[in-house]
Amino acid sequence: MKIETNLETIKSIGKEKEEENWKFRSYLKDLHGVDLDAIVQKLYADVSSHIDCTQCANCCRAMYPSLDEEDVVAFSSHMNKSIEEFITEYLIESNEEKNKYNFNSVPCPFLAENKCTHYAGRPKDCKSYPHLQKENFTFRLMSVIENYSICPIVFNVYERLKTEIWRKLMYENIIGGSPA
Ligand code: SF4
Repeated sequence: MKIETNLETIKSIGKEKEEENWKFRSYLKDLHGVDLDAIVQKLYADVSSHIDCTQCANCCRAMYPSLDEEDVVAFSSHMNKSIEEFITEYLIESNEEKNKYNFNSVPCPFLAENKCTHYAGRPKDCKSYPHLQKENFTFRLMSVIENYSICPIVFNVYERLKTEIWRKLMYENIIGGSPA
């Protein structure tokens, strides 16, 4: 299957398939007897091996990463700033998560020429983006749909997941076994 990396194409398909993506989300939430985490992690390893994040950096242009207290301490120390200075200059309190912050602008103020200028001090949320290697995929489907139109890795994994799940179900229904 082709790996799509064109951000305009991905955004446009995201609009076209919005309804399908929400339906697939509902379907996945009710799916039992399938090790979704294992399937997603395998797809993630394959897709991400074909995509160079440093050529994309669209997450840093479109997302508001979340920073907890530990991230704030680490990032401000990495920048040789006091915590208060760092918060005042670069952060706003999160509307969605208690005791957390977001950067005060998008694109991220630390993105320059598609690179993170404070890569070693970046928050945990940036380090683990797009979060597909984590467990409990079904609990994070809202953010998967949000990231589908932003991150080529998420886009390609979600599309492959549709094929994989439907193929598996087809085999089980028709043949009564699992695909090789
Ligand atoms: S801190 Fe670095 S990795 Fe995180 S959003 Fe900003 S530029 Fe991207």
